[in-house]
Order: sequence, then C-alpha cells, then structure tokens
Amino acid sequence: MDRLVSIADEIGRNVVVNERVESDKEGRWVKSSMEALKQERLTALVAPVECGGMGHGLVALARVCETLGKYYASVGLCFGMHCVGTAVISAKATTWQKKEYLEAIAAGKHLTTLALSEAGTGAHFYIPQTSLMPISDTSFLMNGTKTFVTNGGNVDSYVLSTMAATEEANPEQFSCVVVDADTPGLHWGKEWDGIGMRGNSSRTLTANNVTIDASHILGEPGDQLWYVFNVVAPYFITAMSGTYLGIAERALQEAKELLLKRFYSHNGAQLAQVSILQHRLGTLWARVERTRTLIYSAAHQGQSGSANAILSLLSAKAEVASCCVDTVNDVMTLAGGIGFASNSLLGMLLRDARAADVMSPTTDILYTWIGRAMLDQPILSE
Ligand SMILES: Cc1cc2nc3c(=O)[nH]c(=O)nc-3n(C[C@H](O)[C@H](O)[C@H](O)COP(=O)(O)OP(=O)(O)OC[C@H]3O[C@@H](n4cnc5c(N)ncnc54)[C@H](O)[C@@H]3O)c2cc1C
Repeated sequence: MDRLVSIADEIGRNVVVNERVESDKEGRWVKSSMEALKQERLTALVAPVECGGMGHGLVALARVCETLGKYYASVGLCFGMHCVGTAVISAKATTWQKKEYLEAIAAGKHLTTLALSEAGTGAHFYIPQTSLMPISDTSFLMNGTKTFVTNGGNVDSYVLSTMAATEEANPEQFSCVVVDADTPGLHWGKEWDGIGMRGNSSRTLTANNVTIDASHILGEPGDQLWYVFNVVAPYFITAMSGTYLGIAERALQEAKELLLKRFYSHNGAQLAQVSILQHRLGTLWARVERTRTLIYSAAHQGQSGSANAILSLLSAKAEVASCCVDTVNDVMTLAGGIGFASNSLLGMLLRDARAADVMSPTTDILYTWIGRAMLDQPILSE
C-alpha cells in the first residue's frame, strides 16, 4: 500500500503539478496525469488479479485518491471515476468482458468511467431514464442523455446505466452497459466549463439509437440495484471521499507554510507566533484528522464487508464535504489578502471543494439515507 501511495505521490510531484495551472485555467482534461497513471499501471488498482490487475479494494482507492487530490482534485476525481467504472465492470464480468476490458485496464492500456447522472432525475442517480430496448435476441437499442460524465470524450469506454431491458422491471431495476468510445450514435455536448474541478471534462453524452450487443450488458439485465449498494456506492463514495480529503490536507499544509512564512516589517513578528492563529491551525488539524480517520475506517469496513459499512461510507462522504469546504475557507482567513488573489491555490481549492456537496450521492441525500437506515426505513423511498 505504501508503495502505491509513493508512486501516486511521485506522479503528483512530477506530472500533476505541472499540468494543474493550465488545466484549471483552460478547463482542460488532465491528459498527462492520466497517461502517467496508466504508465505506472496505477490504473490497474482495482482490476481483478485474475485479469492481471492489482486487485485492490476501497482502502487503496481512498489512499491513492487522497494522494492525487492533494496535488489536483480533478486528477483524483478522473482517476477515481476510472476505478469506479472498473469495479462495476469487474463485479459480474463475463469471460469476454474480462478479456476485452479488464485485461486491457490491468495492462495500463485502457481507461473507463461511470456515467449514471441524467438531467431528468438529477441527484436520484439510481433512476436512469435512458432506454435499452431489445431489437433482437442478442441486441438492444439505447437512447438517452447522460450529464456530467467525468473523463467525457477522453477515455476508451463508458459504463452507462439504463432502464432495465425487460418490460416487467420497475424503474429502479436498471441495467448497466459498457460501450466503446467509438460506438456509432454517441454524441458529446460542449466542453466542460465548471467553476471548479476544471480538469474533469464532465460533459454531456447523448446516445442516439446506439446498437448494443448483449455481450456489453453487465450482469443480468434488470438486477442492477445490487450494483448501487455493493459496487457503485462504496467505490464512488470512497474515491470521492479520498479526493476531497486531499483538498483539505493541501489547504492545511498551505496554512502552515503561510503562517511560518509571513513576517511583519514594522516589528519582525511572525504570524506563526500569534496564539489565536496557532489555536486555529490546531482546530483545522483536528478536523482533517477526524475526517481522515472516518474515511479510512469506512473503507476498511466496506472492504471487509462489515454490517455497518454502508452507514460509515455514507457518513464519510457527507462529512468530508463540510471538512474540505470549511478547511479551505478557514485557511483563506488565515492567509489574509494573499489567498484572495484570483489565481491563488486556495481559490482553486475552494472552487474544487464546492463540488463535494452536489456530487451524487449529494450531502443532503446522504444524511437522509443515514437517518432512514437508522430508522429501519427503506433507503430509496422516493
Ligand atoms: C464536477 C462534477 C462531476 C461529476 N461527475 C459525474 C460522473 O462522472 N458521473 C455521473 O454519473 N455524475 C457525475 N456528476 C453528476 C452529479 O452526481 C450530479 O450533479 C448530481 O447527480 C446532482 O444532480 P443535479 O445537479 O441535477 O441536482 P438536483 O437533482 O437538481 O438537486 C439539487 C439539490 O437538491 C437536493 N435534493 C434533491 N432531491 C433531494 C431529496 N429527496 N432529499 C434531499 N435533497 C435533495 C440535492 O441534494 C441537491 O443539493 C458530476 C457532477 C459534478 C458537479
């Protein structure tokens, strides 16, 4: 594990930081960083060992995303979404899917990503309206539009959720399909231009009469709610939590450096000697540390299949959202005017951190799910 973290750290120091400024300025996808991750085969992190992958689970995912997130959150997110897509393919992969996708991912030659969200159902990402209609015994026609597809237009395949391909299925019984980037009928919307996470390329993807061979369906058609709680939620939440933790850690490190660096010319006093600022820094450290502990513990629980894992995982993502936004905000206060410059690192961290609350499962929905689970009510009750 430590070896993986040091590889990610090295890529962060040597590649990600060089790409960050331009990527954030131009809204450009983090190509060099993803290439470096491929080259070092970190993109094989969660691919199964039997396909040549590293076979790691949630703990390694949290640590690698955290490390990348410290350098540039967009890279943590793009890498994380590749890993979530890989985990969804791996969960019930057929022999053909293993050969076609997982072996290529394991060899560092293939990137994928997960496209669930749609404009119509928004935060209710587990209710797709993209249709998958059977047109023969072995093929389907897919129509619909996915929004905010991270890595959009830049990777080799896309894992999409669709309405279940059977007439009797209810709306929550969706199917997942993996489609190649060059499949006819896939159309990309305009370039991504968010206020933060600008290196993500989170674009709109429209599937217009796309023919899907049955070999591209993941698992049994219609049983995919299983994927939401067993694969999508744990992997997605852990990748996000790690990435946003990285933002908070980067801000904390920045706070320490700024306090040590800043001296007044009129009396030679150093900000690091001001007791209220020492106290503030201490409270920031404690906040980040307790969030880190929660995220690591949730990842361990999820990986070992503990009964309470889902509550811990949901809490981890909900808590890291306020941790990273509040930490960057507070560090901005410590930094004085310097943090307020339009091109400041703290400005970018704050813009990136703000995505945490609105990325699914959103913070409001996470706390609601936790409450429902505690009250023994169905989690997806609307
Ligand atoms: C940078 C970025 C990257 C993304 N990458 C991906 C990706 O790779 N793949 C993907 O599938 N999606 C991705 N998304 C999409 C993200 O998951 C959606 O933004 C999310 O689904 C929210 O949808 P919406 O914007 O339509 O919000 P809405 O559904 O309009 O919700 C607005 C607000 O209302 C709240 N709300 C709605 N209903 C309830 C409820 N019942 N209880 C409590 N609160 C509620 C929500 O929590 C939210 O805060 C990304 C988004 C961003 C910003």
